[in-house]
This record gives sequence, C-alpha cells and structure tokens, in this order.
Amino acid sequence: MEENDKFISRVVPPKEKLEEAWWFVFQGNKLLVRIESSPVTIPFLVDFAELRLPVLRQHYLGLLNNRDCYTVELADGINPPAGMAFEGLRQVYDRLDEDLFWVAARAVQIIDWDRTHQFCGRCGIHTQTHPTERAKECPQCGLLHFPRLAPAIIVLVERGQEMLLARARRFPTVMYSTLAGFVEPGETLEEAVVREVKEETGITVKDIRYFGSQPWPFPHSLMIGFTAAYEGGEITLEDEENIDARWFTIDNLPPLPGKISIARKLIDWFLEKQGRSP
Ligand SMILES: [Zn+2]
Repeated sequence: MEENDKFISRVVPPKEKLEEAWWFVFQGNKLLVRIESSPVTIPFLVDFAELRLPVLRQHYLGLLNNRDCYTVELADGINPPAGMAFEGLRQVYDRLDEDLFWVAARAVQIIDWDRTHQFCGRCGIHTQTHPTERAKECPQCGLLHFPRLAPAIIVLVERGQEMLLARARRFPTVMYSTLAGFVEPGETLEEAVVREVKEETGITVKDIRYFGSQPWPFPHSLMIGFTAAYEGGEITLEDEENIDARWFTIDNLPPLPGKISIARKLIDWFLEKQGRSP
C-alpha cells in the first residue's frame, strides 16, 4: 500500500491566514467541489470567510505539501457558490487529486466527530473543543471525547488458484468482494479474521498475514487488510450478511469493487500473483 507522507496532521491553526489554503467544506457528508474544470478541485482561498457563507463549525487539519488545510461545515439548505457543487466522497474519488481526496477523508471524520460530540456522554453538558488536542472536553467532569475509529478486518482467502469472495446483502448492485467485519472488544485482529470468515462462510483459515490498511470514512472505519489460506470446511452462508459466497478463479471473475477500496487492492494483488495484471 502507498504511504502518504505529504500530509502533516496538526490541531493548532496558524495565528494568521496569510496564504491560500485548502478548504474542505462539507454540507452533511458532501464535499464542496469546484466543477467548472475536470478533474474537479476544492476551494483554495486565504480565508473561507471571503465567500460570506454561514459556518456551523471549523477545524484546522494540518499541512498538505506545506499548505494549510481547514475543514468547515455549512448548514443544510445553503446553496453552493457559482461553479461549485456538493458531492459525496465516493462520487469524487476518481475526479479529485488523490492527496486532496485522502485529506477530505480525514476532514469528513473530524466534522462528523465534532457534530456528534457536542455533549458529554457522562454528564450531558456541552463539551468544549480542546485547544491543543483533537478532543472535545467536558468542562464539568473533564472527560475527553476523541474522534471515533472503528477497526474492521478485511481478508482475502486463497485456496490455490481460487479466492473466496462474497456478495453482501448491503451492496446496491451485483458485486463480489472480500470478507470484512468489525473487530470486537477484547479480540485480536487475527481472531477477528478467523471469526468473520467462519461466521460468514463456514470456512476455517490459517496463515493469516498482514497486507495493509486503509482509512474508510463511511463513516469512521479503519480497514485492516489480511490474506489467509484455506484450511477446511465447505461454504455455508451462516449469517444474514451475504446473499452468496463462492470461490473464483482468474477466469471466472464476477463484478468487483471499485479501485478506491482496499478490497480491490487485495483482489488485484491476488490476480497479479496469478500472472495477470489487473
Ligand atoms: Zn462530563
């Protein structure tokens, strides 16, 4: 997996806004993009206040290639400025610079965290944004509320020249992907891999190896990818999650997930190993 070392995460904004910065502006979970050019881009302004739009919340994110990055949320019902539109992150993935996309994936999670941690979970009073940490602090009991991350494993199971893919009930179209599921409290990642594969397909696996990870901002997952080898069992759909699960070879591939996902990176890795470039 590629690593992004161009972005430096920071919490405390610079004292003054002197140069153009990237503004990751959301309405709900939709990003404000400039659509007059292709590929699309996002507002690059000294201060978003120039646009005179009412802002619900604003956070400083850090630096991308030495340029400041901010994120802002606008209220529902505010129309985008001329030449711009609000679009879902999945819709802009192929049309936005990849570095900007992954900062947007951070930004949407910061906005969502701020929006959903307005009150202390222990005493119910208004939290305050911590001045130097990415945290919301309760002024009464001191409880800190950090951005939530939900770790989930995702695994490609191999059996010789075959890989195990499933069609999840939640997929809107016919598509087969690698198995995935959230890690439970108290569980290791490897235990989660074994449990998920067993629960979803009845298959047992061995030789679990780390593959790579990917933030998945829908809404706040961290996908931790593995490969594993078939150990035993026959496919049985034991829970409600999947409509179908099958072994596929390079010669009978089903519709696959899009390039954005670590699922596809796992599948492409397997296909390359079989001697075909994806
Ligand atoms: Zn409290």
